[in-house]
Amino acid sequence: MHLIEMELYGFKSFAKRTRIRFSEDITAIVGPNGSGKSNIVDGIMWALGESSVKQLRGNKMEDVIFSGTDRQQGVNFAEVVLTFDNKDGFFDLPYEELSVSRKYFRSGESQYTINKKRVRQKDVREIFLDTGIGKNGYSFIGQGQIEEILSTRPQDRRNAFEEAAGISKFKLRKEETLRNLNKTTDHIERIDDIFSELK
Ligand code: ATP
Repeated sequence: MHLIEMELYGFKSFAKRTRIRFSEDITAIVGPNGSGKSNIVDGIMWALGESSVKQLRGNKMEDVIFSGTDRQQGVNFAEVVLTFDNKDGFFDLPYEELSVSRKYFRSGESQYTINKKRVRQKDVREIFLDTGIGKNGYSFIGQGQIEEILSTRPQDRRNAFEEAAGISKFKLRKEETLRNLNKTTDHIERIDDIFSELK
């Protein structure tokens, strides 16, 4: 598995549709200050489902949309498409290539796709959960992050180990199931109330 290509349109400083190909070896992105190197990393995190605007170095989600310059008008939506090689079956999906995309409109509407099919944000997140690539994975090591992990609270550190061990997916599903169970218990209680009133 490796990231083959990234396509950006209207994302931060990328006003025009831009394709970046990544080789299987190391890719280094170099450029002057403010030329958009970090925006590329932000774009990858964003397409993988990052929802924290702080992580994306903004104040609100709309900040990911190209806002315009003296020479170029702003646009109405931002889009990032990531294409991964999956010939080794790293992702548990029947595709040799996996393409995920995220689109965000100024109206606040979001759209996600997996291999061009509309899906929910949750579906995209689930693919990457426990792979080490997702939102809470270790593929993005920012400045000071190693220090942060070492000095963090034991519970937070445990979360990091759980993600690395591949069990956070099951934890998330358990939480979801418990929520559904509580809802069902509420419904049963309401039915019992109605029954006792009818008796
Ligand atoms: P450095 O080497 O200093 O870290 P960098 O190459 O990583 O810089 P970025 O932080 O990726 O640069 O890009 C910053 C640039 O992106 C700024 O010029 C900023 O104006 C531009 N930018 C960010 N968001 C938007 C947006 N929504 N619309 C237009 N331009 C944007």
